[in-house]
Amino acid sequence: MQQWKTALIVYAHQSPASFNAAVRDVAVQALTKQGYKVLVSDLYAMKFKASATAEDVKGDLKNPEHFVYNDEVMVAWQDGRLSDDIAEEQQKLEQAELVIFQFPLYWFSMPAIMKGWIDRVLIQGFAFTMQKMYDNGIFKDKRAMLSFTTGGTESMYLADGVHGDVNVLLWPLQNGVLRFCGFQVLAPQIFWCPAHSPVRSEMLEAWRERLRSVCVEKPLSFAPTEYFDLSFPGGFRLRPELRETCASLTHGITTAHHLGKPLPPDNQTKAKDS
Ligand SMILES: Cc1cc2nc3c(=O)[nH]c(=O)nc-3n(C[C@H](O)[C@H](O)[C@H](O)COP(=O)(O)OP(=O)(O)OC[C@H]3O[C@@H](n4cnc5c(N)ncnc54)[C@H](O)[C@@H]3O)c2cc1C
Repeated sequence: MQQWKTALIVYAHQSPASFNAAVRDVAVQALTKQGYKVLVSDLYAMKFKASATAEDVKGDLKNPEHFVYNDEVMVAWQDGRLSDDIAEEQQKLEQAELVIFQFPLYWFSMPAIMKGWIDRVLIQGFAFTMQKMYDNGIFKDKRAMLSFTTGGTESMYLADGVHGDVNVLLWPLQNGVLRFCGFQVLAPQIFWCPAHSPVRSEMLEAWRERLRSVCVEKPLSFAPTEYFDLSFPGGFRLRPELRETCASLTHGITTAHHLGKPLPPDNQTKAKDS
């Protein structure tokens, strides 16, 4: 079969017998069947270094007295002096048109090893600049998705559930990381509480089914970047001329651009029906 597109699965679970491993395997099978070349970064198996340190730079530092990670790795990236493990992940990411982050939810976020991948791989210059972000982001032709398992049930993550609205929890990763770098963000795939679920096989089958049309799936909607005045005098805020228009909206624009209004329902969990 001709492989004409590449998917990267960034995977973080310690156990090959885990439900996360089963979810990853379904994704590899389903995507391969559709003609994807599938790359997997199995972070624990790779013993991927999670901490962002001076060892990520080969050769001399720009300022050894005051190590500023962002500045040092940006220069190292330009000069081809990043550590090999980062450079390898960046090469995989460059090839991929679809990126799936597969992980168990840890403390309302991703495991530290995966956060370390984000800290160390998505560096300034390679993944974003202040000119190339959000709608103008470097990865605007790529799609990305969070696929994760939880310990809590779905009801715990409702707006009146004990853990609070899952849409709020998703904002930092989906907007602050993925969309910031330009990715078209697909709705997350959430496997609620697999440890106590009687429908684990059905969840895996639903995942397989979803992946059949992942390449044409509509992404989540975010506030268009042109809504904001991207200059220092404008303070990177909503353009004044839009404030009046937005005043008449019944809901905020997105989960975090709520403008003091009710949150738009399912903003971070479902693509808008057009
Ligand atoms: C540090 C830490 C922080 C956490 N923070 C949170 C948090 O903030 N919020 C929250 O909700 N949860 C939290 N959790 C819980 C965590 O998210 C869950 O334990 C995890 O998501 C469960 O996924 P798993 O893959 O590890 O499940 P597993 O325990 O590996 O699997 C669940 C069940 O599925 C079975 N299984 C495996 N393969 C298959 C298959 N092919 N078909 C059918 N069944 C299969 C397994 O045998 C097992 O019985 C946290 C856990 C830790 C360790």
